[in-house]
Amino acid sequence: MNVLLHTCCAPCASHCALALRDAGHEVTLFFSNANLAPEAEWQKRLEAIYALAQHDSIPVIVDETSHADWLTSVATGFEQEPERGKRCERCFRYSLTRTYEATLEKKFEAFTTSLTVSPHKSSALIFNVGQLISQALFLSIDFKKNDGFKHSLQRSEELSLYRQSYCGCEFSVRQVVRPLQTVNTARACNTCPENGQLRDLDWNVSGLTTHGVAGSTRTRSAS
Ligand code: SF4
Repeated sequence: MNVLLHTCCAPCASHCALALRDAGHEVTLFFSNANLAPEAEWQKRLEAIYALAQHDSIPVIVDETSHADWLTSVATGFEQEPERGKRCERCFRYSLTRTYEATLEKKFEAFTTSLTVSPHKSSALIFNVGQLISQALFLSIDFKKNDGFKHSLQRSEELSLYRQSYCGCEFSVRQVVRPLQTVNTARACNTCPENGQLRDLDWNVSGLTTHGVAGSTRTRSAS
């Protein structure tokens, strides 16, 4: 099948795209991450996606997204939710709905997401969200299986892919930074526990509510 892979980041996609190919599918990466803040983080993850796509010869489509719209549609009223809580379910629905719309518009045969490779994300919840959007087109694939996460770490290392230190939105940064300020041994990466320490976080806690991309729309053409 010709599958559109919602791609949260290059490390996760590095395993999922190969797994889909091994299963006989054609794969296109769909970078749709309105949740990401600040803007510099979105850029870093996108650059890593381009590096992976070039290495593995995978087409990429970059979604035009607005973090301001994501804040309004997903996060407002759910700012204090912990990671894995209601805000995250809404966040999955937002990105997977956009992926579904692109699947229809660009005539892919199915869609799925790299989100299930993370041990910090519930595959059952993601499947539920995807199937509610489209039972016919969503592929419920648990990329954690067959050591998927471990493979993603290995490939990230081999390809020197940028690996983030927090899930993606400003609220997930707060959850990482606060424990680090009080307990030095806190685990830094909510997405990738082996990360070990907080890296590349070039903005501080006090800027969390204002240091996003409110009002801007991120536009990139497909490459
Ligand atoms: S913590 Fe991650 S999954 Fe949850 S709302 Fe933020 S970006 Fe989305």
